Amino acid sequence: MSHYRAQDMKAIREALAAQLASLTEHIRSGLSESEQLQFTAVLGRGAGDSSDEALAISLGDLSAARLDLDIRQWQALKEAEQRLDSVEFGACADCGNPIPAARMVANPAAQRCIDCQTAFERTHGGQARGSL
Ligand SMILES: [Zn+2]
Repeated sequence: MSHYRAQDMKAIREALAAQLASLTEHIRSGLSESEQLQFTAVLGRGAGDSSDEALAISLGDLSAARLDLDIRQWQALKEAEQRLDSVEFGACADCGNPIPAARMVANPAAQRCIDCQTAFERTHGGQARGSL
């Protein structure tokens, strides 16, 4: 279990589900009909029965430039969803400190505390966009 209180976890869960739902709608509406079928097939897989790699490849095929950022955010949220019940959830990937619940509600896919995220973007911000 993570360090969050039950009511915080509930708020984070709800925020994650809401963001995922609206992003899914947004991506779906930007896809052609055949792409939508592929995307639906990806969605239909249970969280546990597909490797992250397979998911990334399937979505990579769909990932036209126009949807690239949306799909990346979608993947980040799906990964966060799988981490929800693990002890590492909400711990900063860099310094290990707990990330405040309010930050996780605002961005359930956050992997760093604000200090580390700021430092990360200062060093990686430029390159993170263009290449994978
Ligand atoms: Zn940190």
